[in-house]
Amino acid sequence: MKNSHVIIAGAGIGGLAAALGLLRTGQTVKVIEQVAQLGEVGAGLSITPNAGKALIALGLGDSLDRLGTRPPAGAIRHYQSGEILVSLPQEEGAGRYGVPLYHMHRADLHQALLQSVLAIDPNCLLLGDGVMSIEQDESVAMGIDVHLHSGRKVHADWLVGADGIHSRVRAALFGEDRPHFTGYVAWRGLIPGAEVAEDLLEPPLCMTVGPRRMLMRYPLRRGELVNYVAIARRTAWMEEGWSVRSELGELLEEFADFEEHSLRLLRLTPTDKLFKWGLFDREPLPTWTKGCATLLGDAAHAMPPFTGQGAVMALEDAVVLARAVQNADDPFLAMQHYEQARHARVTAALAMSRSRAELYFADDPQQQVRALGAGMAELRTLYDYDAGTVPI
Ligand code: FAD
Repeated sequence: MKNSHVIIAGAGIGGLAAALGLLRTGQTVKVIEQVAQLGEVGAGLSITPNAGKALIALGLGDSLDRLGTRPPAGAIRHYQSGEILVSLPQEEGAGRYGVPLYHMHRADLHQALLQSVLAIDPNCLLLGDGVMSIEQDESVAMGIDVHLHSGRKVHADWLVGADGIHSRVRAALFGEDRPHFTGYVAWRGLIPGAEVAEDLLEPPLCMTVGPRRMLMRYPLRRGELVNYVAIARRTAWMEEGWSVRSELGELLEEFADFEEHSLRLLRLTPTDKLFKWGLFDREPLPTWTKGCATLLGDAAHAMPPFTGQGAVMALEDAVVLARAVQNADDPFLAMQHYEQARHARVTAALAMSRSRAELYFADDPQQQVRALGAGMAELRTLYDYDAGTVPI
């Protein structure tokens, strides 16, 4: 299919990846993003081999070695004694999956996608105006009107809602439903590597497990930054929004009984680099497509981060959507084929992520270690998938 007009709501990882894939198939794309400036936001992402394959299919294979850091060998440690409970060998290289696993700063991936999109069409991005509502007729041939916060109305043949977990497009298509609080809160911090004493980075990748809590750290940008995520159970999430600045004191209190190495590391967090993140997901939708619109990424299938596959699934979606568009005669068939090819896989990934949570955050560190081992083995079953070649 050549030259349909598509609007993409949201310029996150999913929206930009979809824009890149669709521009490469010759579609005319307008990406509408509510924030006025795309800045350096987020922290570390796991670019598992299936994500690497999606990036290669998008023409960004060179970004893997350039922007990614191969995870070093590491260990799982006991929260009080610091004892190494399990040694983790370095993740195997390209080996079985064809592409190795990397860690990448979300902002670096986002920037690489943005530059590639703008290189094809420098005018395809509209910043500082969000999608408020949509209007479509019974007849899909008429296309879709998209009403923006500014009062403007834009028209397209079809629409992709890649506007994240609080998606307006999802609500407009399928009605309002509230994201579900998983019962976990994550703190994410970034520390300049030069400020971290060597003994705190031994081993270079470390997961410390304690009752109902976990602290995971790994290097980003080849050690320029130390990225960590600290997760704890909570009964409620009171804050507005899903990511808010946090006081270091609150984090230190939550992890006060962790051994001194962990606490020394946490104390190094610059105040503007600590975020608290309520972990939400949504019930899977039976369908993502209605008339001239479909959903992609978190808008379609927000999942808790226990398998680290949120951004990865958005990348896979984008590749499969672009391939479906290339093969189909019209956008409606393409959206159907995209959804058919993706629905079962992301629903399974969501279920996998949910089912691990209770086990990972058990009371007994030994039980946590066993669950983590089983979880990693299960997670690796997702790595074989190649969005660039999977049948559509
Ligand atoms: P998102 O990444 O949430 O992107 C959605 C985009 O849509 C955003 O840019 C948002 O501003 C925009 N938007 C929302 N509503 C509208 C609207 N009505 N109109 C137009 N635009 C709209 N995951 C991690 O694992 N590690 C991280 O460090 C991390 N940091 C993140 C930081 C930010 C700021 C965000 C938004 C997400 C982050 N995530 C992180 C989540 C992860 O990136 C997502 O799970 C995954 O990338 C799915 O991407 P997405 O494009 O579907 O949604």
